[in-house]
Formats: sequence, C-alpha cells, structure tokens
Amino acid sequence: MNILVMLQPLFDMLKWLLPWLVLVIIIKTPWFKGWFGELLVRTFARLKLDGQVYRRLHNVTLDTPDGTTQIDHVFLSPFGIFVLETKNMRGWIFGGERQAQWTQQIFRHRFRFQNPLRQNYKHVKALEALLSVPPEHVHSVIAFVGGARFKTAMPDNVTQGVSFIRYIKSFRQPVFNEAQVSAMVKVLESGKRDSTLTTHYEHVQRLKQRDDPSAERRCPRCGSAFKIRIRKTGNRAGERFWGCSAYPKCRAKQDLD
Ligand SMILES: [Zn+2]
Repeated sequence: MNILVMLQPLFDMLKWLLPWLVLVIIIKTPWFKGWFGELLVRTFARLKLDGQVYRRLHNVTLDTPDGTTQIDHVFLSPFGIFVLETKNMRGWIFGGERQAQWTQQIFRHRFRFQNPLRQNYKHVKALEALLSVPPEHVHSVIAFVGGARFKTAMPDNVTQGVSFIRYIKSFRQPVFNEAQVSAMVKVLESGKRDSTLTTHYEHVQRLKQRDDPSAERRCPRCGSAFKIRIRKTGNRAGERFWGCSAYPKCRAKQDLD
C-alpha cells in the first residue's frame, strides 16, 4: 500500500484544522487583544452614549511642547470633555492615584507599568491647551478592559470593563452649549486651533480661577457648590482640593490647579 494513500486521512484532517489553529494563535496575540479591547470600547460607546450628545473622536493626534501625543478616545459633550485611556490587561491590579508605578500581578508574576492617570494627564493638558477650556471641564477617564481586577481602592475615574460609560454619564451639569461643542469637534478634526473658540469671557474666567482659588466653582456632576477642602488623611494630608458640598451624596473632587 502506498504510504501517501495511508496518510491521506491525516492530510485531510490537517487541512480542516489548520485554519482553526491559525485563528487560535491570532486570538492569543497581544495585537488581537488590543484590537478587541478597542473594539469593545468603541462598540459600547456607540450603543450607550448618544452620538448627538457625546461626540466621539478616536485616535486624535495633538501637538505638545515636546512633540505630539495620541489620544485613543475623546468624547465631547455639553457636560464636559472626557479623555479616555484604555488599558488592555488581565490579572490583579494594584495602584494608587499618586503612585508613579502600578503593578499587575498574574499568578506569581508581577509587572510594573506607568500609572495610567499620569499617562493620560499629558493628553488632558494638550487638549485643554488646544481648546482653551478650563481644566475643570476636561475629565480623565481610564478604562481597564481585558478582565483585570482592582486589588486596591481606585478613584472614580479609573474604571473596569464598560463602567467608564456610567462614570461619563454621572456628569449632568451643562457647561458648554451645542455651538461650542461643535466648534471643539471641528478643531480636533482639523487639528487646528480656532481663534473664535475662546471668547473673551471664558478667557477672563479662566484667569480668574487660576489666580483666585476661592472663585466660585460648581460641581461638574451635580451642580452643587464646589468648596476648597483639606485632606485629613493619607500621605497627602494637609493638601487642598475642590470637593462637592453635597458630600457624601456626591463624591466629585478635583485638584487645585
Ligand atoms: Zn456634586
């Protein structure tokens, strides 16, 4: 009997198996996981955030003093601007708002990575500069997709899975009108700064707030007064920050800039 004839069933099986094998290998690559995570974020954003209210932009490149920076996702709405950074990670995540490095643990293996809040800070600042908007209306949001679990307490804006949507929707006080939102979208799409965007009023307001931290501010989430508070515990005790007067019902807070 011919050896080839004997092996024929094996070849037939391989022909059927090979595409599956290739698919499995592709699915296991970091490239695919990254792509899938981004797809998840985009799909849920499209389904859950009304496109008329939250204007979406993906992969926005901005100029910075030392080159350029790329933002994965930006949502521009009357309620503020949300800069989303996605982290495709699994395992356990340990980290704190002020720590430079966070840790990912998979079984017994630990990996260090840059605090994503710091990473996104650059994006937020570049956007603020380009759009000439006050810092309290630009919000940094981190979304861990890929099944990672937090093992330390995280600030509200560090989210798991698709809960970044809930965080974005928690801001309900209009701070921009539709014309302003459209103008900002146009600026980001063209990458060019529009001089008509900054009104004299806004500019003055911004300077005032920078110089005088006691200037009136409203909570971007619930509209109650924002008050300067002093941290009582932790390694930043004694530091001042903006906190919502409706605390503990509303836990919104911001750094003094
Ligand atoms: Zn509030």
